Amino acid sequence: MLRIKRVPTVVSNYQKEEEDEAVRHVSGCGKNCLKSCCIQDAKLPLYAFKTVGKKDLSLPECKEQTVAFLDSLILGEWEDRVQRGLFRYDVTACETKVIPGEYGFIAQLNEGRHLKKRPTEFRVDKVLQPFDESKFNFTKVGQEEILLQFEASNDDGEVQFFPNAPIDVENSPSFVAINVSPIEYGHVLLIPRIFECLPQRIDHTNFLLALHMAAEAGNPYFRLGYNSLGAFATINHLHFQAYYLAVPFPIEMAPIKKIAKLNGGVKISKLLNYPVRGLVFEGGNTLEELSNTVSDACICLQNNNIPYNVLISDCGRQIFLLPQCYAEKQALGEVSTELLDTQVNPAVWEISGHMVLKRKKDFDEASEANAWRLLAEVSLSEERFQEVNDLIFQAITSGKLDLISQCPEENDAVTSNPRSSMMAGSKECLVLQ
Ligand SMILES: [Zn+2]
Repeated sequence: MLRIKRVPTVVSNYQKEEEDEAVRHVSGCGKNCLKSCCIQDAKLPLYAFKTVGKKDLSLPECKEQTVAFLDSLILGEWEDRVQRGLFRYDVTACETKVIPGEYGFIAQLNEGRHLKKRPTEFRVDKVLQPFDESKFNFTKVGQEEILLQFEASNDDGEVQFFPNAPIDVENSPSFVAINVSPIEYGHVLLIPRIFECLPQRIDHTNFLLALHMAAEAGNPYFRLGYNSLGAFATINHLHFQAYYLAVPFPIEMAPIKKIAKLNGGVKISKLLNYPVRGLVFEGGNTLEELSNTVSDACICLQNNNIPYNVLISDCGRQIFLLPQCYAEKQALGEVSTELLDTQVNPAVWEISGHMVLKRKKDFDEASEANAWRLLAEVSLSEERFQEVNDLIFQAITSGKLDLISQCPEENDAVTSNPRSSMMAGSKECLVLQ
């Protein structure tokens, strides 16, 4: 069994030592917490997204010029928490630069993020671990860290908004909360069904919730990310991260090669010329169709104990799935001291090309070659990647390969991202059987 001392980033102010007992106030325990002592009278904004009519993915909804309501709601609430001084540092003061080169890697110097750290024993060799009430989890944060409740509308598919909705604990609300150690503007956490205390693992229902959030925000610069256990998740309580970054991520610009198309219309490609090997899922007749396919793939990785990261881009219409092995190599002593010394944990954002650096030296010396060298250590080998892909394809087709078309090995199946040229010029797939 491999065990590594991990140093998780503090994502909530309540993750700090709870040594100071708060002064008791008139109602509740005085901490304005999420437990039964304080939750009855609590009210939070509630955003209910429409689901009827199963959003047509071909609709041009991901536009920079239109400001979606959810988008402004999240940012308005986030700014309010800035004013209230809830963040551990001012992320807008962190230096950021685009690293010169072909790929446009983004480097951020974030020295504040890992100060006042608390070491935690964390197993890195198991992707699925049971929820542990004794460890930090999001039911321990204060109400002021929650921005809104996010759920499906029950009103005939219309978006609904209630600025002051009670919290119906019995109804398993999902919360959007601030990350008190933000890595970018508007950095939030989506915590599905928070009171059910789900461990960090993807399932169909909650992955779809994350896609809905991406679609409803409707902003191409707003991406959601997911880290499995063993792939640098630091808290074993189901959550997605999300933030705004107004440049393309290098992974979004990497060329891709179509390798299969499912009967439901979901297209699967693999990344080319990118340091981390991964799959790209797009299309599908509905958001749910796309969500189910990616969920099947994630569940397959979980069941096979393969750590992975997920990036949700293009308002939920493009999803990157990246199995990784960095923590495993780390535990086996196969990562160079030079890389270890940077203390960079290659989670979803780093893998996507947004390098969050902790040392001024690394920031000053940031280069495409350095970024590439780190990410290359994260990637599975070509051989292992192929094995893992075989597992994934078995899983998403339930072993029935006639549900899928596989593309011939032809150069013109290669397309460059972004999506402008995505559908152009690619040959029809051969249907197996
Ligand atoms: Zn309380």
